[in-house]
Amino acid sequence: MRVISIPCPHCRHGVHAANSHTMSGMMMEITYMCKNPGCGHIFVAGLEVLRTLSPSAIPNPSVNIQLSKHVRNISAHASGQEG
Ligand SMILES: [Zn+2]
Repeated sequence: MRVISIPCPHCRHGVHAANSHTMSGMMMEITYMCKNPGCGHIFVAGLEVLRTLSPSAIPNPSVNIQLSKHVRNISAHASGQEG
């Protein structure tokens, strides 16, 4: 699986992850450097845990992650209804 990155917001060129800093168990900041030598943009992007798609079998009680609508739909239809 390739490393996820956002293209340079100025020139849309690919970028290189230069550094990362974990802010918490839910949030990371990544410093990206644009690979376009004519641009040279260096910027920080955030990587954040947003939603749970499948709950953990060993949940940490201090972690509170929003369930995705998809998961709620599965729960609502667990009685056997299609939809
Ligand atoms: Zn650029």
